Amino acid sequence: MDISERLAEERRGRLAAERLLQHKSAELAKANDKIAAHAMHLSDEVIEKREEVEHVRHEAETLKGEYEVAQENLKQAESAVMIAERRLWDSLETIQDGFAVFDADNVMIAANRAYLAAFDGVDAVKPGIHSDMLLELMTDEGIVDTEGMDPAEWRDMMRDRWANDTIEPVTIRFWNGAFIKLIDRRTRDGDMVTLALNITETIRREEELKEARDKAEAANRAKSAFLANMSHEIRTPMNGVVGMADLLVDTELDEEQQLYVETIKSSGEALLVIINDILDYSKIEAEKLLIHEEEFDLERCIQDVMTLLGPVAQNKGLQLVVDYDMFLPTNFVGDPGRVRQVLTNLVGNAIKFTEKGHVIVGVVGLPAEKDGTFRVHITVEDTGIGIPPDRIEHIFGEFNQVEETHARRHDGTGLGLAITHRLVRLMGGEIWVDSEPGRGSGFGFHITLPTARGEVEQPFRAPDWMGRALLIDAPGIARDVFAKQLVAMGLKVEIADEVTDVSFDGEPNCGVAFVLHDPPSRNGPDSVSLLSEKAPDLAMALLTPAPINAREEFSGVIGCLSRPVLRRDLAGLLAKVSEPESNTRI
Ligand code: ADP
Repeated sequence: MDISERLAEERRGRLAAERLLQHKSAELAKANDKIAAHAMHLSDEVIEKREEVEHVRHEAETLKGEYEVAQENLKQAESAVMIAERRLWDSLETIQDGFAVFDADNVMIAANRAYLAAFDGVDAVKPGIHSDMLLELMTDEGIVDTEGMDPAEWRDMMRDRWANDTIEPVTIRFWNGAFIKLIDRRTRDGDMVTLALNITETIRREEELKEARDKAEAANRAKSAFLANMSHEIRTPMNGVVGMADLLVDTELDEEQQLYVETIKSSGEALLVIINDILDYSKIEAEKLLIHEEEFDLERCIQDVMTLLGPVAQNKGLQLVVDYDMFLPTNFVGDPGRVRQVLTNLVGNAIKFTEKGHVIVGVVGLPAEKDGTFRVHITVEDTGIGIPPDRIEHIFGEFNQVEETHARRHDGTGLGLAITHRLVRLMGGEIWVDSEPGRGSGFGFHITLPTARGEVEQPFRAPDWMGRALLIDAPGIARDVFAKQLVAMGLKVEIADEVTDVSFDGEPNCGVAFVLHDPPSRNGPDSVSLLSEKAPDLAMALLTPAPINAREEFSGVIGCLSRPVLRRDLAGLLAKVSEPESNTRI
């Protein structure tokens, strides 16, 4: 090889070495950069870690402080719990009644002295004992008197009690005659808390009271039976006195003798009313009064009472009205005599204590739960003197009269409402009163009555062609109620005070007219003739405040209805009105 070749080779070698050097230097610089970046990162991490350590150290310190506070609080809480527990136990120890707690497995956890004292002398009875063992000790040691029950059966009964969700209190008798009432309750954690109350004194007092009440009731019954017998015995001769006086009145007597006999008669009758009240009351008290059930017409029964008391009301100028629900049947099964007695009392009182206005008997009813029976509500409302609130609650008691004895203007025994109240109760009902002094009183009662033969009568409906009914009547509650009855029967009602007020011009057809006949102020037949001049084809009926015997005055009318108007009579009368042949009827 010549020199130039060698030089060239050398140059190539040098160039290669330079390139390698260059490459390595670049790698070195890169590595340096990496190392520098890593060092930087490491130093950041060190700073961060240091901060973290600092933070953790701070937190640890805070926690340590908090822990110390919590420790302190815990200590305080523990001591408060201990105080509360001690107080609780002190309280439980001071009560006379026994108290014990059992765990969910029925093992005794704690019991107060009073509880343990019941097992006096039996060492095994202490916390730790199982309830089954306790029951066994009670029967085996004769601590409990099972009152003839087999001991094993008694224990089973007591065990079963605790297994129930709701545990009823039980009273057990101890060997020494003490009565302990056990009240037990399972807590949410399953513990059983038992309270053993000594109720010996209460039971003894209850027995004494029951004995005293039985004795008093027996004495009261004996008194009532005596009174009932006596009243009965007095009634017989008294009937003789009244009967004879009645006969004597019709014999030849001078005026003075007549007065004497009439006084004997009226005094005798007054005495009989009182005796009858006492007899009834005593019979109820002696439990000798029975309810005799039979089929009866309730509406007629009410009308009987009205007929009986009507004259008294009329003398006082009172309107006596019956508002019997059109959709309520009238035939029921019950004791009509007792219903009449109750009504006579209530309506009699209403008239007695009312000077002006009206007395209204309202009857409504709804089908009761049992098929074919109705819950009938009867109310008697008056516009009388009313009853002061402080007297109202005693009104159904015996001998309760609102007026003081010295100032009494009304007679009576003060037994009427007491009898009424008891009669309603005997019939399975309730009675109530509502009153406002100076404005009036409302007495009401309900009884449940089966309908006769289980039938429900269909209410009467007036035929369509009858259209309107004309009612010429004095204004007042009686007219309003009668108009309501007509409306309920499907009629439209035209009301006028007087015939002269009626104008037929342009009036729609009237099928029937009712005219009040209340002599001497209102003469029905006169009004009828006046009306028939105006409307010759109109069917007319008289309406009288009380039953009258005025057959000769009836000419020109289709009938006469006396107040209170029975639904059946009204339906019968309307049925008599014949259908018009033409449209000439006014
Ligand atoms: P009496 O035989 O005195 O009427 P009651 O027991 O029937 O006895 O009534 C007791 C008292 O209740 C009456 O004396 C009267 O003071 C009062 N009383 C009863 N009904 C009415 C009434 N409708 N309005 C005002 N007071 C009444």
